[in-house]
Amino acid sequence: MKILNFGSCNIDYVYSVEHIVIPKETIASKSMQRFVGGKGLNQSVALAKAGSEVFHAGCIGEDGIILSEYMNSVGVNTKYLKTVSENTGHAIIQIDESGQNGILLFPGANNCITVEYIDRVLNDFAEGDFLIIQNEINNLEYLVNCAFEKGMKIFFNPAPYNKKIDRISLDKIYCLILNEIELFAITNEEDIEKSIRLLNTNYPNCRVVATLGEKGSVYCYKNKMHKQAAFKVKAVDTTAAGDTFMDYFISGLSSNETTQKALLTASMAAAITVSRSGASPSIPTKKEVVEFGFKNQ
Ligand code: ADP
Repeated sequence: MKILNFGSCNIDYVYSVEHIVIPKETIASKSMQRFVGGKGLNQSVALAKAGSEVFHAGCIGEDGIILSEYMNSVGVNTKYLKTVSENTGHAIIQIDESGQNGILLFPGANNCITVEYIDRVLNDFAEGDFLIIQNEINNLEYLVNCAFEKGMKIFFNPAPYNKKIDRISLDKIYCLILNEIELFAITNEEDIEKSIRLLNTNYPNCRVVATLGEKGSVYCYKNKMHKQAAFKVKAVDTTAAGDTFMDYFISGLSSNETTQKALLTASMAAAITVSRSGASPSIPTKKEVVEFGFKNQ
């Protein structure tokens, strides 16, 4: 069984601000740091740090070499990564004093995914292999349809949420992993449990994992619900919490852990991520998660 993550790669510029900028306002930031990022890259890094072998596919520009070097350095296999003539995607991330973030994205090379490229990469994957996707690349609908035809298990994080998501057939998704905002946007509901049950009813083959920030997470499949509490930590920066959670969860499933065990480990890993600043560098290794488990269980 192989794991392919087809997703975005960004350079993140992280600004510390008193509050997240509002319309017509200009504010000065207290500091700026540059990190490697993108939901796709973060998730590949999380999988590698969790101990899984992951192939990352996606596009970067000539200016994105630090991204491939970084992925290689943490053990992500980048043999499918493609360099295109567009600029590398980037994100401008503001973090306020309470650790909340606001993000502006420039997709750049992340929108250069062609159907030929998708066909070429998927050619090396087969039934039962995992495909991980988020909503930061183009041609997602084609990718989902092809992977589903092949019998790959698709793990979909519909983030950031926008109207493109409505074109994806959720009945082709093996597991939908989403936060409260995405959950409510997809279901047009405002109640967590009701929304999750609605997804289970409408897409009976799709497992749902809803992450609820410091309120923890909920897994639901065939209307059987399992709740996982979050671990108490001091939140410094919630960037990449969802990415860490999702990929520790997937890594657990790929090594045949029970759903409950995978959710518990994912929750510990995400708690460590929120207690640190930055995106992918804040994702813990498996060893750090095991140590956290000894201290906090
Ligand atoms: P996203 O980053 O996608 O918005 P969430 O905010 O729901 O995702 O966070 C994902 C997971 O990270 C949560 O289910 C929880 O396990 C963990 N987490 C998030 N915020 C906190 C927090 N303040 N304290 C502890 N764990 C947290």
